[in-house]
Amino acid sequence: MTVSLSPHERLERVRERIAAACARAGRDPASVTLVAVSKTHPAQAVGALARAGQTLFGESYVQEALPKMDALSPLGLSWHFIGKLQKNKVKYVAGRFELIHSVDSLELARVLHEKSSALGVRQGVLVQANLACEAAKSGCRPEDVESLAEAFEELPGLELRGLMLMPPWNEDPEANRGLFARARGLRERLSERLGRELPELSMGMSHDLETAVEEGATLVRVGTDLFGAREG
Ligand SMILES: *Cc1c(COP(=O)(O)O)cnc(C)c1O
Repeated sequence: MTVSLSPHERLERVRERIAAACARAGRDPASVTLVAVSKTHPAQAVGALARAGQTLFGESYVQEALPKMDALSPLGLSWHFIGKLQKNKVKYVAGRFELIHSVDSLELARVLHEKSSALGVRQGVLVQANLACEAAKSGCRPEDVESLAEAFEELPGLELRGLMLMPPWNEDPEANRGLFARARGLRERLSERLGRELPELSMGMSHDLETAVEEGATLVRVGTDLFGAREG
């Protein structure tokens, strides 16, 4: 579909879609940050999108991400980790990714806190909420999100910045509007409970970013519409 477009054109299209959704929702386009999801795509493709002006990239697999980040380090890009994080991989990600979107258990949070503290960094994190309660999906159960968020107050190696939502796949971009709205409501309740602002709400992908932005997303994670389809 969009494969024949240049990286610059694809980036422009996605930016325009974000801007149009912001206009419909009465939001400032600067309040939405685009995370270019480069998993499965080679460093060369990331470099091409970086030359078109994109500076923030998201990766899902530790082994794949690290060599890519090393190869591209002269470009000074920012990286987010958005995939499932195993505890035994924490040592590779702490302090290397600006934000980790996928913290979904207290055990994982503790390991990440210990590693970040040892490095002398404060690691930015989001709690991934499994609001649809899908058994096979990672993410914290909705009833556990508040206690997990509160536990972060005792883990100074971590800075909780908000929530991430990965809803069930549905090709209809409207299908998850209700879940997006619930995620926003949950973030508001958490902010009140913690007595401080939680600035980030990570939700929306290639096919439903408009809906997510209309419902309050501050980080949208877009892969396919920037890089083309992934193989396999
Ligand atoms: C792959 C991935 C995306 C990007 O999905 P597209 O449909 O290709 O835009 C977003 N978020 C997460 C967590 C992913 O793993």
